[in-house]
Amino acid sequence: MKSLRCLFIVLCVSCSLVKSSAQTDFTNLAAQIKRFVPTKISANTSGLSQGDRKALAKLIEACKLVDSIYLRQVWSGNIYLFKELKMDKSTRGRDRLHYFKINIGPWSKLDNDEPFIENVPNPKPAGANYYPADMVKAEFTSAVDRLGPQEKTQMTGFFTTIRRNVGGQLTVVPYSQEYAEFLRPLAGLLKDAARLTTNKTLRQFLNKRAESFLSNDYYESDVAWMDLNSPIEPTIGPYEVYMDELFNNKAAFEAFITLRNDAETKKLAKFSGSLQEIEDNLPIDPKYRNPKLGAASPIRVVDEVAIGGEARAGVQTAAFNLPNDERITREKGNKRVLLRNVQEAKFNKVLIPIANVALDKNLQSLVSFDPFFTHILAHELMHGLGPHTITVDGRQTTVREEMNELGSALEEAKADISGLFALQFLIDKGVVEKTIERKLYATYLVGAFRSVRFGTKDAHGKGMAMQFNYLTDEGAFKYDSSSNTFSVDFDKVKPSVKKLTGEIMTIQAEGSYAKAKALLEKYGVVRPEMQKILDNLTTIPVDIEPQFPLAK
Ligand code: ZN
Repeated sequence: MKSLRCLFIVLCVSCSLVKSSAQTDFTNLAAQIKRFVPTKISANTSGLSQGDRKALAKLIEACKLVDSIYLRQVWSGNIYLFKELKMDKSTRGRDRLHYFKINIGPWSKLDNDEPFIENVPNPKPAGANYYPADMVKAEFTSAVDRLGPQEKTQMTGFFTTIRRNVGGQLTVVPYSQEYAEFLRPLAGLLKDAARLTTNKTLRQFLNKRAESFLSNDYYESDVAWMDLNSPIEPTIGPYEVYMDELFNNKAAFEAFITLRNDAETKKLAKFSGSLQEIEDNLPIDPKYRNPKLGAASPIRVVDEVAIGGEARAGVQTAAFNLPNDERITREKGNKRVLLRNVQEAKFNKVLIPIANVALDKNLQSLVSFDPFFTHILAHELMHGLGPHTITVDGRQTTVREEMNELGSALEEAKADISGLFALQFLIDKGVVEKTIERKLYATYLVGAFRSVRFGTKDAHGKGMAMQFNYLTDEGAFKYDSSSNTFSVDFDKVKPSVKKLTGEIMTIQAEGSYAKAKALLEKYGVVRPEMQKILDNLTTIPVDIEPQFPLAK
């Protein structure tokens, strides 16, 4: 049920990576706000038909209604506090409003949800505004236990809130009723956009989603979303369940209004044509290779035009995997959407400053967005290659099952390092231009610092530290103490990448939890050289604060 958003290790400085443990000083909010650099996010609309342009305007308008719903989902007092903050015109008042808008609530997402405004619940309500504020977990579970199967599904469903009736008992309210004042006009805007667009699949999705908002049944419109083949690629509705920290049941509203990026889509198609050949050449025992790869899940590369609801809150989403409905993922898989212009903004505002600190001066000019994003594409594709279904002691099982809690760190590290391996393979074959080679490795080195910056407690940081230290021990990365920077040995990096790809994939093929643990424990740490550089990164922003000129 949970989406795989946080699995995109190279893509995002995802929320879970950036929580600091120390008490944060909220007397000077300007310093906290500074962690998010204001950045314009724009896209090329010149390829759109007249009708699609008009449809796009309607969808941008729809984002505001999604904002209104999400604001109410966070906390029952959120809307009143927001109104109050807007009236305070003092400098401190403006800072509070600004930081409230970044977090869409009075709790700082970068600081373990500590409140930055006084007289609000502390800790943040675990059930958000999905449940009555005075409800405890046990009351809900015992109420659910007393219900028949159908009512149970309603009560624990994605798209309902739980309220108290006049007698004080818990009752179920469908989103279509709870948020009717916003969902009715939202459905209207989507229907308007459906009439305007010149694309059939988009029309279908928008009409079906409009109906979902009114009927509270999202199945058909999720299917239509999977089938989208359109220059405008909207994702709009109730999706992720992270904010329901009590049960991970209730979905938060959000919207990503995006345009398909045709150049990157072509690049993706080119790589996809080489996947079987890459699989056939993986540096593992041939018996572990898959002689016939299945159909890969669809990947879309898009540029963001406007966002709404949860998508606005805190660290910006750089990629997502949807839908969460298991009926659909069983039938149709799920779709990965990569937000190219968001990645580029993060690259410019976060990665380049890190490169200026962490990388040998002579290599700094090699760090560039094109190899960065090409590696992201390779990373995504490589998730589909290598061992998945395996045999251990004669029993058929999966890598995921055998690896338990180490699974995602190892799988993400696999996608990273084998993404480099695959691109080198395609460079050597002349499918990918040779000019990218040195850039690829220099950019990857810098990316490691971004991932490890917030610690190795997190699976992503651990997986990245593991790769970095392994390559360092192989002589592929070199530390220079006089400049306190790292550099790449371009001769050694290629065989080292191949060796680590083979090692990780063999551990996966064998289903060896013990070997995975040993590898991560030995290498998945921050060594003193790396720490010395990390200490110099503290003033570099954590993320962007997006501004959407096209949405104005
Ligand atoms: Zn990944």
